[in-house]
Amino acid sequence: MALSTDRGCPPWRGFLFFLCLPLFCGLIGLMLPTRALAEKKRTVRIGAFNYFPALFRDSDGAIKGFYVDALADLARRENLHIEYVYGSWAEGLERIRSGQIDVLTSAAYTSERAEFLDYSKTPLLTVWGELYVPIASKLDHITKLQGKRVAVMKNDFNGHSFIKLAAAFGISCVFVEMDGFEEIFAAIAQKKVDAGVVNNIFGVPQQREYQLRATGIAFTPFPIYLAVAKGKHPELLALLDSYLLRWQQDEDSVYQQARQQWLHGRPAQERGIPPWLLASLTGFALLTFLSAAFILLLRNQVKRATLVIAQREARLRETAEMKRLLLNSTAEGIYGLDLEGNCTFCNTSCLDMLGLQRKEQLIGKKIHTLVAGARPESWNTTLLERTRANQVWHVPNQTLRRSDGMEFPVEIWSQPIVREDKLIGAVVTFVDISERQQLEESYRFISQSGYQNSGDRFFPALTQHLAESLGLDFVIIGRLTDTGHRFQTITVHQQGEIRENSDYDLQDLPCHEAMICSFCQDVRSLFPESTLFQELAAESYVAVTLWGLDGQPIGLLAGIGQTPLRNLKMAESILKLVSFRASGELERSRAEEILRQKNNEIERFTYAVSHDLKSPLVTIKTFLGYLQQDLANDDLKGIEKDMGFMRTATEKMTDLLDELLRMSRIGRHANAPTRISFEVLVTEALTAVAGAIENRGVEVQVQEKPLTLVGDQIRLTEIWQNLIDNAVKYMGDQPAPRIEIGIRDDGHEQVFYVRDNGLGIDPRYSHKVFGLFEKLDPKTPGTGLGLALVKKVVELYKGRIWLESEGPGQGSCFLFTLPEALNPIGENII
Ligand code: ADP
Repeated sequence: MALSTDRGCPPWRGFLFFLCLPLFCGLIGLMLPTRALAEKKRTVRIGAFNYFPALFRDSDGAIKGFYVDALADLARRENLHIEYVYGSWAEGLERIRSGQIDVLTSAAYTSERAEFLDYSKTPLLTVWGELYVPIASKLDHITKLQGKRVAVMKNDFNGHSFIKLAAAFGISCVFVEMDGFEEIFAAIAQKKVDAGVVNNIFGVPQQREYQLRATGIAFTPFPIYLAVAKGKHPELLALLDSYLLRWQQDEDSVYQQARQQWLHGRPAQERGIPPWLLASLTGFALLTFLSAAFILLLRNQVKRATLVIAQREARLRETAEMKRLLLNSTAEGIYGLDLEGNCTFCNTSCLDMLGLQRKEQLIGKKIHTLVAGARPESWNTTLLERTRANQVWHVPNQTLRRSDGMEFPVEIWSQPIVREDKLIGAVVTFVDISERQQLEESYRFISQSGYQNSGDRFFPALTQHLAESLGLDFVIIGRLTDTGHRFQTITVHQQGEIRENSDYDLQDLPCHEAMICSFCQDVRSLFPESTLFQELAAESYVAVTLWGLDGQPIGLLAGIGQTPLRNLKMAESILKLVSFRASGELERSRAEEILRQKNNEIERFTYAVSHDLKSPLVTIKTFLGYLQQDLANDDLKGIEKDMGFMRTATEKMTDLLDELLRMSRIGRHANAPTRISFEVLVTEALTAVAGAIENRGVEVQVQEKPLTLVGDQIRLTEIWQNLIDNAVKYMGDQPAPRIEIGIRDDGHEQVFYVRDNGLGIDPRYSHKVFGLFEKLDPKTPGTGLGLALVKKVVELYKGRIWLESEGPGQGSCFLFTLPEALNPIGENII
């Protein structure tokens, strides 16, 4: 039987084994050729069995022991190849008998064995048998073995000897035969038998391992020999004998050394740490390790469980917090109700809307008595009835009462709360619909104040509606002036009455270009520069810009309160809603105004044309009469004179008609717009009137300014041409005639000017000169259409023209703007 690692090789040897493994492998490598040679060597097969430490099979499968060491030395010296055949002792005997092996070790001499064995002359060892028991066993005398189970090895001399000894003592034991000493020791240790017989060579080093002890019942010392199959290997036996003799005689022989080493060396080391101590230590270490592992595992599990609990708690907290946040982040009022009509919970919007500070003011209270408006009983009864019927209840318009007694319209939804199929209460959600109602009212006003309430009548109606629905003291609608700097009121509603219109500086009404602008209080300190706010003792202000169809601001709709404005959001919403209609009305009134102006212009034009065209006709008619008389009198001189007057009159008429034609074409026949620099325009105009400038000896000074204009080049040139032409024409007797042409930067706009030091114009006529056929001095040449034409071109480019003169003899300065030639919108520019 093989020895287990525990026995043949203590644990620390395994470590040594691994250390030695590479060395061993190297040796094997070195040995390979030798092994190849050994193939040719004589092979000696030796029976091996477990006879530790003389001969045994180690855990690595190799046959080891002091026999093996000595025989290996012998084999090397004698060029033999030894092959061990492992089995039980009995099998060994069988094998040598059948010729499967050549040599048997440790054979005691018996006459039966001598039948098939030849023994060496020199014994290998002298040994004896001994009885072994567990350490704690009380067995110390052969007489105590009566009836006990004693293990013996099959076909073992020691066993036989003991059986004989027991018989001699008249002790009857139960003998249990086993294959080897190892099994015997194992059986004793496992209490399968009470005692066992082994050879002292095996017993002494192994007893501690099995926690056994020798009983002192030792018997029959006997020599053991090497033996070969009978008559088969005399020369091998002789060889073995010669070595045995040498080994026995020489204390330092390889056999003696190996024996010492195996008997005392390794077992001695093993004795250093007793197996029980080792086992205890190992057990203790294992226990400590297992305890530590268990504690770690436990701690880990506790940690994990704690983490899970903490996470769950955090999640719960988060969920509760989330619920609270959700409940309080909505603008709708929400409260819970039990079946008795008591409030169970509420959110902050609910408290705000009801004008309450703390939840306690509501929770646990009969809610209908606190909040329901006009008919609390009927409301609460209905709600509970519906809830009991497990229905969602929706009331589109209901009145709720605030803590200050004020009532406001709400829309309500009520949903049943059901737990485990049982109705336990309701969740009531409500929204304040006063804003919605007011918006609807304004919407109704806007849509119903249709045609019959448009234009002049619309604005007063609108201001009155706004003042009433928003509780404003003043509502003002106005338009921005053409210059965009002032604000002209169209309707001013003041505390129930319509006030007279006036115009204001824009800073009086802030945010005229913001979409919407509102301040619920303190507006006077916010806008101290507004004299209007001071005048009206304004506290709150809300205004919306009115936009024209061209996307430009055209007016303002503003509300002013002398008290703080309670619902600013609603005021903004309503103002926004009505602003579209107001803008439309403003646009319409502006269009009507323009139309009115045009009509007036046409009227004036018709009058002027009929008047001015009539005068040459009157002249012609008059001189026709004179011509008739002069013809009758054959007055040739008279005839020539008459015809001269008539010619002048027709020329004048032609000029008038030409100018009129030019005028009518302005705005109708436009040339494609191009980019022209200011310099080019002025140069072209100067070239056209160069003759007159030259004749009068006028000094012309043109400001150098890099500016590009976009528009109809011919029309634009006409502006400068007419103005320069007039400046030269109306220079008077100025000894140093001078014209200045340039551009003045007024911050928000570029202003063109043509200045002269000529006759000048009385400021009283500063508007008149731009009229059709307007001439300040009828005796002067010209049609009186030049400035009217210039004005028309300027207005075509959304500009203005005006005159600055300090009076007759002081020179004149014509100024004009051309916004659309400087910032063209959507033009196709060449
Ligand atoms: P016209 O020059 O053909 O008379 P305009 O419309 O050009 O007609 O001018 C109208 C009137 O304005 C002129 O008749 C003249 O009395 C006055 N006027 C125009 N330009 C000047 C000027 N630069 N200085 C003084 N008076 C001027």
